[in-house]
Amino acid sequence: ICWSVRGGWHRPRVSPYGPISLDPAAAVLHYGQEIFEGIKAYRHADGSVHTFRPDQNGRRLQRSARRLALPELPVPYFLQSLRELIAVDGAWVPSGDDQSLYLRPFMFAKEAFLGVRPAHKVAYYLIASPAGAYFKGGVKPVSIWLSEDYSRAGKGGTGAAKTGGNYAASLLPQSEAYENECDQVVFLDQDRNVEELGGMNVVFVYKDGTIVTPQSDSILEGITRDSLLQLARDRGHHVEGRNVSLTEWREGVASGDIVEVFACGTAAVVTPIGTLKGRDFIDEQPSGTLAFELREELTNIQYGRAEDKHGWLYRLDA
Ligand code: PMP
Repeated sequence: ICWSVRGGWHRPRVSPYGPISLDPAAAVLHYGQEIFEGIKAYRHADGSVHTFRPDQNGRRLQRSARRLALPELPVPYFLQSLRELIAVDGAWVPSGDDQSLYLRPFMFAKEAFLGVRPAHKVAYYLIASPAGAYFKGGVKPVSIWLSEDYSRAGKGGTGAAKTGGNYAASLLPQSEAYENECDQVVFLDQDRNVEELGGMNVVFVYKDGTIVTPQSDSILEGITRDSLLQLARDRGHHVEGRNVSLTEWREGVASGDIVEVFACGTAAVVTPIGTLKGRDFIDEQPSGTLAFELREELTNIQYGRAEDKHGWLYRLDA
């Protein structure tokens, strides 16, 4: 699906998947003016197709657009694009546990010019691909590499936007994580507070039941995290969004104050963190059950196996 803007969004159409033609001077290729979203469509047992809190993705796409000087796509158009794709390609939504159709909306500057200014010609596309279970053979704790040399975002930067540049900045540290036999990288801010992983938010569970998650304007506000924290509040947990320093993390684990650390995002849903590895230390992380319980509760709602008390599901095929 493609929309172009030049004084308004127009010409929406669904076309067969294939290459996009771009002028070699298209602004996106030189200045990285682009944003995206990630969202899943789930098939329920009765065959219907639903997605989860897509209004939140639509609003986050708008916030990303503002930061990247792109035009904001109205949320109703965003939702319409999801429905139109499913109307044509709904058969691609797989059924079964942990199966989904991954939807990737994205917007980029198409205008051809060399010069640093916001582009006036922009395209919005939506592509999709069936996705199987993220963890083959069940959820496994992940190992995390602490990136000391690189940051993903700085104060006033684009960290809270879902834009390719943030991910470009995380590729080299991610390779460093692999070289150190870790699955993922965790980023710190300039004050050595924990930010997030390359593509997931981090959550800490304390002995007294308090749940703490890093909150700052350089972190992507995850929709999975927001939903898990709501489910935790429903269970009576106290939830705090605040800075968590690396020292608080390491000392909390050493003293037993922190009883669980997990990461969350649309792709993997929830994954416990098993180890934190730095240049000169390896901290084994405590293992608990809350991450698994919240994961189960959330996926039961997404797949229509539990009551959707918060009205989070959005039907795409009707
Ligand atoms: N942080 C980053 C950097 C991400 O790429 C993602 C995935 N979109 C998340 C956090 C988690 O966000 P969500 O739960 O909305 O998928």
